[in-house]
Amino acid sequence: MIRILEDLRAGTKGQPLKSVLFEVGELSEIRPEELEEFLKENADFEFEIEEKKAKVKCKCGYEGMAEIIDAEDSDVVFMCSKCGDIPEVISGDCVKISNVELKQ
Ligand SMILES: [Zn+2]
Repeated sequence: MIRILEDLRAGTKGQPLKSVLFEVGELSEIRPEELEEFLKENADFEFEIEEKKAKVKCKCGYEGMAEIIDAEDSDVVFMCSKCGDIPEVISGDCVKISNVELKQ
């Protein structure tokens, strides 16, 4: 999870941050509550965390939200809500840094 902070610092070239918005995809292996805990301990800026719905595309033609079967631990199990097959993930399988405000 430390990679998120490293990416962030690299992306902002180490400038001091005021606030950051993180978008956690629902199929991401990082859960929003884990990220929140991690940031509480490691971040020196304000942050907001939003959970984003994932989007999948299936061989059967279905395109839309994934049917989440099990999200207890870091392995999120999901399937196509139409045919039950494992669809391809279009979005929502990672953590995105979406809004960064720098300190003036
Ligand atoms: Zn399908």
